[in-house]
Amino acid sequence: MLDSVRVRLTLWYSLVLGFVLVLLAVFTYFLYWRNIEQRTDTGLAELADAFVTTFHAELSDETGPDAVRNAARVAMVEHRFRDTVIAVLDPANNIQQSSLELPRLGPSRERITADLFSSKDFQSLVAEAAAHPSALGDVPGGRDGFRAFARRMPAADQNYTLVVLESLHPQREMMEDIRDTFLWAIPIALLLAGIGGYFLARKSLAPVAAMASQARRMGARNLHDRLEVANQRDELGQLAVSFNQLLERLEKSFELQRRFVADASHELRTPVAILRGETEVTLSKPDRPPAEYRETLAILRDESQRLAQIIEDLFTLTRADAGQYPLTSTELYLDELASDVLHRARSLAISKRITLSSAIDPELPLHADESLLRRMLLNLLDNAIKYTPECGTVSLQCQKQGQQYVVSVTDTGPGIPADMQQRIFERFFRADKTRSRADGDTGGAGLGLSIARWIAEAHQGRLELTHSDSRGSTFTAFLPVGPSVR
Ligand code: ADP
Repeated sequence: MLDSVRVRLTLWYSLVLGFVLVLLAVFTYFLYWRNIEQRTDTGLAELADAFVTTFHAELSDETGPDAVRNAARVAMVEHRFRDTVIAVLDPANNIQQSSLELPRLGPSRERITADLFSSKDFQSLVAEAAAHPSALGDVPGGRDGFRAFARRMPAADQNYTLVVLESLHPQREMMEDIRDTFLWAIPIALLLAGIGGYFLARKSLAPVAAMASQARRMGARNLHDRLEVANQRDELGQLAVSFNQLLERLEKSFELQRRFVADASHELRTPVAILRGETEVTLSKPDRPPAEYRETLAILRDESQRLAQIIEDLFTLTRADAGQYPLTSTELYLDELASDVLHRARSLAISKRITLSSAIDPELPLHADESLLRRMLLNLLDNAIKYTPECGTVSLQCQKQGQQYVVSVTDTGPGIPADMQQRIFERFFRADKTRSRADGDTGGAGLGLSIARWIAEAHQGRLELTHSDSRGSTFTAFLPVGPSVR
């Protein structure tokens, strides 16, 4: 049960709410109690003042030995309430007159007897009032005790003491009511809040459950499905959007893989078909002149070379994709490497009567993988020579510009149509498939530029087609001068 976020959320929510409610109840209870106490004390002092005023007024009208007693009795009749007791004590601290001696005021809520005046607390309160003009304190008696106020009351040249007591029973009863109310109200509030919280959590998390069940139904076959996004702006909507974006990327990479595999098998099928066709034709006759066998073998050699090249390129790309191609970098001179590659390309150029020129700055040190850089330059030069008509020109420039080396290969070929320029770095892409095939070239699987670009990027650089029109094309590699290998 605790594995459910809904239940956990509800429990946490109820726990925090319960804690806050209990804290609030305790705080309210004590605040209320203090307030009542203060009000009782003020009420007692005011009652005592009013009593004294009435008492003195009555005393001035009275004569005789019982004057004090009579005046006190009249004042008591006037000022007593149901839950208060008033007592006047003579200078010897004996009860002169108390309101308990008067007839009762209606049915009392508790039985109060004169024992009230004999308690130790009562006596010490009276003593304190004698020392000070007045005193406040608690006196036991009745059901819940009394709050008492005592003050000196001079009369007939003597010091009498007035004590006003108020039963704490009604207050205690009220506080009990309040406590009982809290005791049933808090659990009910918690229960209601818990139920509400559970439904709220269920409603809020419903999109997550829906997303989970939708996601469960997704697989490689229906990667194009997307999660429904109820509200793009809330957190769950953003989660769904992020998930959809992830699916989008996965679908794209699945699609790329699918195309890669399809293209690769297509590219491999052609040389294999040629190999099989040639062998079958040659073997169809029991005897052939040696020249014919030689011719067939030459074709088989070319096609197997082509096959090997394609397999090598595919292997390079898949290892590059998996980030597993080991780069062996060394300190080298780019100018020397470029001159060397140019030298190797010379035989290809001569066979097509293409002029090879170069402008290579001296002293271009670089920390890089030599064989990969060589491969990148060879691919670019190879393409330039391959796609440039006879008697054209191919040039290689190599120079330092700021913090980067700029290596460009320019040819006087037919250029690349504008709508294809974006795609030539894609794997297996060939601007003119029929021509490449018809020429019977040995590379031509459309992987050369992809590999060249990856090599530039593996060295923290980039490879771009910087110019191409009907007069020729320029491919430029930008390589950082500093340590560049990842
Ligand atoms: P390929 O093995 O077909 O040469 P690449 O990846 O090297 O594959 O090149 C992709 C395509 O880009 C080529 O098929 C060709 O159409 C075009 N291309 C590349 N280099 C040049 C160039 N120098 N001039 C004209 N077209 C080019």
